[in-house]
Order: sequence, then structure tokens, then C-alpha cells
Amino acid sequence: MKRKIALIAHGGAGGINYARRRLRGLKEAVEAGYDILCRGGSSLDAVEKTAVILEDKPVFNAGTGSYLNLTGEVEMDASIMTSELKFGAVGVIRDVKNPITIARMIMEKTDHLLLCGENAIKFARYMGLPYYDPKTKEKELIWQRKRRKRESRYFGNVWAFDNYSGTIGAVAIDTQGSISVATSSGGINLRLPGRVGDTPIIGAGTYADPNGGVSTTGHGEEIMRQLLAYRAVTLMSRLRAPEAGRRTLAHATRSGCRCGMIGIDKNINMLCLNNTKAMSWCYIKNGKMATFLDD
Ligand code: ASP
Repeated sequence: MKRKIALIAHGGAGGINYARRRLRGLKEAVEAGYDILCRGGSSLDAVEKTAVILEDKPVFNAGTGSYLNLTGEVEMDASIMTSELKFGAVGVIRDVKNPITIARMIMEKTDHLLLCGENAIKFARYMGLPYYDPKTKEKELIWQRKRRKRESRYFGNVWAFDNYSGTIGAVAIDTQGSISVATSSGGINLRLPGRVGDTPIIGAGTYADPNGGVSTTGHGEEIMRQLLAYRAVTLMSRLRAPEAGRRTLAHATRSGCRCGMIGIDKNINMLCLNNTKAMSWCYIKNGKMATFLDD
């Protein structure tokens, strides 16, 4: 019997403003990733493709259209992982188009797990990735408006998170039963330069093992403290994905962590949960699509 396949993606748990634009982007990305799975491709190729398409859509806070830090610069984080425990991540990277592709190159072409800052940029250039400015006018205007209001303060309270997010993530399982996860983020609006969020931290923003895979989004500092992705995947060793997700989210809520998460377990059960106002998401399982705008 042919193994079943599935792919799920999120567009951040910080709200669903521009809902139709988000939906269009998510559908296109999930369809492209799912198509790779249908043709027998790997979950790794599928989540990278999905993440690249989402990074290229300015409506999301990843790649092109990332939020700006306190000094008006785009600094991005990304990570990718497979259920064989292969992992690669990049932190505080600037001047590149697709951080997720660099994360994959770090995973496949180096002995390391995480590269950050200037030397991550040098690595990207060495790998042949050209200069690219991911800053958009739209996000620059938001920055100017918020910067004026906040004077010298950066992300100071979790409520601010609700309006300023759109990190992206994808989880897929392929015909071989291999699970992969990709997460990419422009971080939090007005954060301090050099701040690394949960996205490139193994077990926080991204985790996969043979039981399942999870990508998280939300208040990065709290997600790191709780190692949310690892927590949810670990529970999948004895629970189905929806229950593992519910327990993890309940723990997050008790701990004051505002977040969302998506995931798939080895038996193709899905989880898609958040404790924020709203999260955008889309998945295809056994050929059927579901989205955050379905009723
Ligand atoms: N988790 C991201 C960060 O804190 C933000 C987000 O998910 O939207 O950098």
C-alpha cells in the first residue's frame, strides 16, 4: 500500500490581517510542497519549497517583508530539520533572499548546526547566494510609525506581539515516512539588533524525530524557555499529534507563552493550535486541503 503524505504550513500566530493575501500565499506554497510529495519527492524538498514561496511573499514576516529591528535593519532567523535528526539553522542574517535555503546549506554542507551574523552572510556568499535587500516599503512604514510611538523601547510586552507577526513554518511527511520541518522569521518588530529568536533554536522553533515534527511561532523568548517544539514532538512518542499539541499548548498558556504551532506525527495525524488571537495556516492531507478561513 502506498504510504500517505501530508503537508501543513503556518503564516504566524500574531493575527490574520490581510487574511485573503495570507490565504493565497499559503495555498500556493502548500500546493507546491504537496506536489513534490505526490511525485515521490522528499519531505525536506517539500518544506524548503513551501518556506521559500512564503519567504518571497511580503505579507509574511520572513524573507522579503521581514519586520525591522530597533535600528531599522532586517535581521532574519531560519531553521530546517528532518526526523533523522539532521538540523541546520541561521541566525541574525541580513542581505539574502531565502534564509531557509542557507539553513539547509548549513545542514548539508557543513559540520555545524547554526551560523549567525556577518559570518553567516559570508557563508551564503561563498555558497553563491547574491546580495538581496528583503526590506519592503510596507514594513518600513510600519517601523516608522511604531518607532515614533515607542521611542527607545523594544518589544516590551507580549500584547504587542498580536499585531506584528507573520513568521512562517512548514511540516511534511513523505512516502518514505520521513518528516521534515522548516521555520523562518523576520523576528519581532523593534527588537534589539542582534537578538536571536526561537526560530533557529533546535527544539524551540523547530523539531523533528521519528515520532513527528513541529514548527512553532509566537513570543520567541518564551518559546525558547519552554522548548515548545521539542516538548510537543516528545509527547508524540505516546500520544497522537492533536493531543500532544493540546497538552503542549496548555503548558504554554500556563507559562504565559503566547504562541501557535503546527505538526504532523508518524501516523499522519496533524496538530494546528494557537493561544493568540488568530493564526493563519493551510494543509493538504490525502489530497484534501483545509485552511484557517474554512468554517
Ligand atoms: N517566534 C518569532 C520570534 O520571536 C516571531 C513569530 O513567530 O512571529 O522571533
